[in-house]
Amino acid sequence: MMAVLVVLLLVVLAGRLLYYGRPYAAWTVPGAAALAWWWMRSGGSTGAGLAVVIFAALAVVTGVPALRRQLLTRAAMRLMRPLLPRMSDTERAALEAGTVWWERDLFSGRPHWPTLLAFKPKPLSDNERAFLGGPVDELCSMIQEWDVVRAGDLPPEVWSFLKRNKFFGMIIPKEYGGLGFSAAAHSAVIVKVASRSITAAVTVMVPNSLGPAELLLRYGTDEQKRRYLPRLAVGEEIPCFALTGPEAGSDAAATQSTGIVCRGKYKGEEVLGIRLNWRKRYITLGPVATVIGLAFRLHDPDGLLGGAPDRGITCALVPADLPGIEIGARHDPMGIPFLNGPNWGRDVFIPVGFIIGGPGMAGQGWRMLMESLAAGRSISLPALACASAEVAARLVGAYAMIREQFDTPIGRFEGIEEPLARIGGLTYVMNAARTLTAGAVDAGEHPVVASAIVKAYLTESMRRVVNDAMDIRAGAAICRGPRNILAHMYQAVPVGITVEGANILTRSMIIYGQGAIRCHPFLHDEIAAATAQNLEAFDQAFFGHIGHVASTMARAFVLGVTDGRLIGAPVDGKTRRMYGQFTRMSAAFALVSDVALATLGAQLKRREKISGRLADALAWLYLGSAALKRFHDEGSPDSSFPFLRFACEHALYEIQTALEGALDNLPNQLAASAVRPIVFPTGRRYRPPSDAVGAQVARGLLEDRAARENLTQDMYMPPPDEPGLGRLEAALGDAVQAFRVETKIRDAVRAGLLDKAPGDILLAAALAAGVITPEEQEQVRQAERVRDEVIQVDAFPAGESTAPVR
Ligand SMILES: Cc1cc2nc3c(=O)[nH]c(=O)nc-3n(C[C@H](O)[C@H](O)[C@H](O)COP(=O)(O)OP(=O)(O)OC[C@H]3O[C@@H](n4cnc5c(N)ncnc54)[C@H](O)[C@@H]3O)c2cc1C
Repeated sequence: MMAVLVVLLLVVLAGRLLYYGRPYAAWTVPGAAALAWWWMRSGGSTGAGLAVVIFAALAVVTGVPALRRQLLTRAAMRLMRPLLPRMSDTERAALEAGTVWWERDLFSGRPHWPTLLAFKPKPLSDNERAFLGGPVDELCSMIQEWDVVRAGDLPPEVWSFLKRNKFFGMIIPKEYGGLGFSAAAHSAVIVKVASRSITAAVTVMVPNSLGPAELLLRYGTDEQKRRYLPRLAVGEEIPCFALTGPEAGSDAAATQSTGIVCRGKYKGEEVLGIRLNWRKRYITLGPVATVIGLAFRLHDPDGLLGGAPDRGITCALVPADLPGIEIGARHDPMGIPFLNGPNWGRDVFIPVGFIIGGPGMAGQGWRMLMESLAAGRSISLPALACASAEVAARLVGAYAMIREQFDTPIGRFEGIEEPLARIGGLTYVMNAARTLTAGAVDAGEHPVVASAIVKAYLTESMRRVVNDAMDIRAGAAICRGPRNILAHMYQAVPVGITVEGANILTRSMIIYGQGAIRCHPFLHDEIAAATAQNLEAFDQAFFGHIGHVASTMARAFVLGVTDGRLIGAPVDGKTRRMYGQFTRMSAAFALVSDVALATLGAQLKRREKISGRLADALAWLYLGSAALKRFHDEGSPDSSFPFLRFACEHALYEIQTALEGALDNLPNQLAASAVRPIVFPTGRRYRPPSDAVGAQVARGLLEDRAARENLTQDMYMPPPDEPGLGRLEAALGDAVQAFRVETKIRDAVRAGLLDKAPGDILLAAALAAGVITPEEQEQVRQAERVRDEVIQVDAFPAGESTAPVR
């Protein structure tokens, strides 16, 4: 009897091995071998025989598809249905939109590093480089952000310059008169402009982000493209995109702006059209827009378009001068005077041909928006965040070297070293993620999850970096005026955090919510099959998922014990271990994520503190891997290694903290306790970057000119005679030279060769005692002169207001 069973088992195994591959084989082959061994060792005992029977039955049931589907899959599908998230049509459209890319690898627990390293982001063309070194530099030299703030707008000559040089047409192809720039170039332009003027950057960003031009390019009719794109490219038409209203912010699909299909008169002719009523707010460029990209809910009560009466969200291009439109009022977004304001429409009539893509696209607006969102989200705010970080890094790197307190450059104090290190490490990783994601867009991706990661985590990192820079600059950061560029960046932080999807919502709902469904190797198929009651498809997905969990468990444990050492790294050298560690944490994330999904089901959508932590883990996996790629692509320079190390150690620590937090707070603590030793078999392994690593980063910012310039290579550097950053940078060389001489004098005081005395007296004594040469004395004097100039802050005559003059 036993012999028959064993033979049967072996036959099934052989068949399944050939047929279903690894997941099935992973448990049946070792299981069969172990049982056969036990059975033989026990001389065919009843216990071992019973185990063989049960095992064989299981192997047969799971291995024979027809049996498995009837006995297991059907029941599993019935159990799973109530766990599935209920989704509205708008949620489904959002979830299905766009593509997933490298983040899918990270989500699966098996990142394939050679693919990432082989990915070559499109380099900037000669034309794009010339634009950055030409019109962009010229634009920057024309703007003084302080004057813009005081005037409440960009000067007219800057507006003309922007239009003439096609800054508003970066995404519009050359055939329509635009610049036809790559995402990488577009992003680089925004970084440079934002590093000079947030106002100008936001003004340039909007026409090139989600809005009329992008929607026309993707969905417009030929006639609409020919009509609008050439005029948008040269700023003859100024666009805005009006989605948000008082009632519909994050939940934009809840808009109460409406359009009713009806017949009416347009330019004297009776046509089939739409009567629009809307209330919008927060609309950037709204106050000067000549054409409004309007999102509204379309109703067709009389069936004039054919189809259902409620057609859903629709997007149309509405000329801003039509009767019934009220426009022109302004909000004041944190004192940064880019043009932003509310607008209203009352019984505004447009022909149905104004729907973007024509009447056939009625009701397709939400899908269009969701499909188009990723490109702009990958570029605009990540670029603004990186600009702020680069300026902060450049500024404090010089300031902390020049500003002295207690006879010491403040950058030498360990307390200052700490924020300096964060600024350096985060700036490095932020730019890595920005360029990687723009590269994905250039490669034809619409990376929904990666774009949400860079939007949310780069703007959060900007908040951290800018706050750190404010603390280091202290009083000089607080007193506003032409010298203080950091103040504008500080004011802009909440704008970056809020627009294009407020970060709190983006973290839980998009990065993890959408990420789970789009990036998980089986979840999407399981949900689709269970919803469609497709037993065969569900069977494939469900058992694939079980195999995935089993192999992830094994990987997470083995990689956890060895701290990722068993993984073949794609490179040798100093970064080799880091690849293994990120692979390890990717497997750990995949397992914790599956446990959260399995134990919470559809509830996970509401458990945002859990999904938010999982989003943190996924985001830092992405950011850390971007830093590794940057280091690799730049030829692994030694001077960048401390920045990379800081970034990776920080990322690994954040991932560990997030996963621990998710496990600690899972309602099903039984499952959490079972998984914890698999994921963290040796406990908490990662620590925040050490003081020593932080010191290396801080030194890089303070003393290593090449490292500092590489870190801040994308920003605009003002001329050396310009008060503020320009003069500060110019003074740095003098300060570095003097620092060496001052160190000599300090050492002499410590050795008792000189008595402690105030500045000039000590300098004279040092010269007299032969501690320094006359040239060195002059170097210190020169540094004192420039230091005095660059530590000044702006002051205004009593009675003169610093408030905007509008
Ligand atoms: C300066 C500026 C420029 C803008 N430009 C434009 C523009 O050009 N066109 C346009 O259409 N819109 C624009 N907006 C609107 C912007 O996109 C919205 O402000 C944003 O979507 C958030 O909406 P809200 O401010 O109404 O916040 P709310 O939706 O009221 O959200 C408040 C808070 O609740 C959180 N929240 C909401 N729902 C959830 C959830 N389910 N789970 C967890 N947290 C949640 C949010 O994250 C946020 O922190 C702009 C806004 C600003 C401030």
